[in-house]
Amino acid sequence: QENNFQAIISHAKEYGFVFPSSEIYDGLSAVYDYGPYGSELKKNIRDYWWKSMTQLQDNIVGIDAAIFMHPTTWKASGHVDSFSDPLIDNKDSKKRYRVDHLIEQHADKLEAAGKKEEAGKLLADMDALLGEENFTGLKELIDTNKISCTVSNTCNWSDIRQFNLMFDTQLGAVSDESSTIYLRPETAQGIFVNFLNVQKTARMKIPFGIAQTGKAFRNEIVARQFIFRMREFEQMEMQFFCRPGTELEWYEQWKQKRLEWHQSLGIAPEKFRYHDHVKLAHYANAAVDIEYEFPIGFKEVEGIHSRTDYDLSRHQEFSGKKQTYFDPEINKHYIPYVVETSIGLDRAFLMVLSNAYTEEKLQKEDGTEDSRVVLKFAPKIAPVKLAILPLTKKDGLPEIAKDILDECRGSFKCFYEEKDAIGKRYRRQDAIGTPFCVTIDHQTKEDNTVTLRHRDSMQQERILISELKERILNEL
Ligand code: ATP
Repeated sequence: QENNFQAIISHAKEYGFVFPSSEIYDGLSAVYDYGPYGSELKKNIRDYWWKSMTQLQDNIVGIDAAIFMHPTTWKASGHVDSFSDPLIDNKDSKKRYRVDHLIEQHADKLEAAGKKEEAGKLLADMDALLGEENFTGLKELIDTNKISCTVSNTCNWSDIRQFNLMFDTQLGAVSDESSTIYLRPETAQGIFVNFLNVQKTARMKIPFGIAQTGKAFRNEIVARQFIFRMREFEQMEMQFFCRPGTELEWYEQWKQKRLEWHQSLGIAPEKFRYHDHVKLAHYANAAVDIEYEFPIGFKEVEGIHSRTDYDLSRHQEFSGKKQTYFDPEINKHYIPYVVETSIGLDRAFLMVLSNAYTEEKLQKEDGTEDSRVVLKFAPKIAPVKLAILPLTKKDGLPEIAKDILDECRGSFKCFYEEKDAIGKRYRRQDAIGTPFCVTIDHQTKEDNTVTLRHRDSMQQERILISELKERILNEL
């Protein structure tokens, strides 16, 4: 599985999906750039989310808030005081670890060795201690279980400390404490502080939602899992405002709807599971993760949280501005309750890429073995929809091909190529996940038909040029 993960990472780089950031300077840890096909795929996933969460909903509107926010936002939200991870240092190697990750890794090892109960108990103990912020207890847990880092069998551990994950910087020229601002660690707060602006200007009635996509920044400590855990990443969040007391119904609905969304990306249901949070954050009264089975195991892709009226109440308290809504149906003012759906775009990208990545053994016509790597993306999110390939560079075939390109490129992303043998060109399209290739050959000149090749089955069929565009649009 780990090998498979490495193969996906190499493929992503080789075919222009994801590059290490500033690679000519040896990269920047946990920061990545998206290449030509990666940026298309990422955009398609974002657009698909946006459409499902706004256009196709009766009562959800979008916003695009700034990354920088007034610093008091993060005091109110609790991030200044408690958006931190407990860390521990290996005194010998000077390497730093996140305590929960260290313990989780140990639990994974126990489970792999068949000690399921022991692993479960360890995780339960950890959750309890983390919840109480009992760092002495956590240190004892690490010591008594002889938990070590991967490099050596015994580790000389330091005490446990808290480390805030927010990046800060200075606003304006003067550098003093009052000018310190943060790069947002989540997009949600931009929605909360705009709650009344949106409600009033878009004339929204509760229940309604506000959606947003955008960059978020976290100074993650353990950041060695490709784009799974990044320091700069993108979130797609929706806050659903509802009447107090109805939040758990909405929570159940969103939990279900979001799982359906994931499956609608063409991913098999058994690749997902819910992970209900037993230990809840102080502001939540229900929380669940949707986990996908990555090559590195089942991991969170999206969180659905019933956040009560915590955020709006805190903003009311810190800003002194009322955050209440007048509900004409029950003739009452109240601070709405909130159900949040929060998904990482980069993580969704990794999910889609891992799910699509397939190594296939094939039989050539002469009976010899061949192989291909194919990315089986759902056509609606594939970076390129149609490759247009004239069989040869002459005999007027490129001209016909370019006419097809002109006809189709306004409706969906096309790719044109006339170099190399056709088999080689097909393989390259397989490797970037193009669902359809159309080949223009000499017969085209006689009867206006082309060969349409399907990526997954590799089946080919002849269709009329005049029917091509409509056909592809239907498949999308
Ligand atoms: P984790 O436990 O993996 O650190 P989290 O519970 O802190 O995640 P949330 O704060 O709930 O995550 O953020 C919502 C979503 O944002 C996550 O489900 C994930 O998809 C994404 N996300 C969070 N942190 C990162 C990161 N460092 N890199 C990429 N995506 C992230």
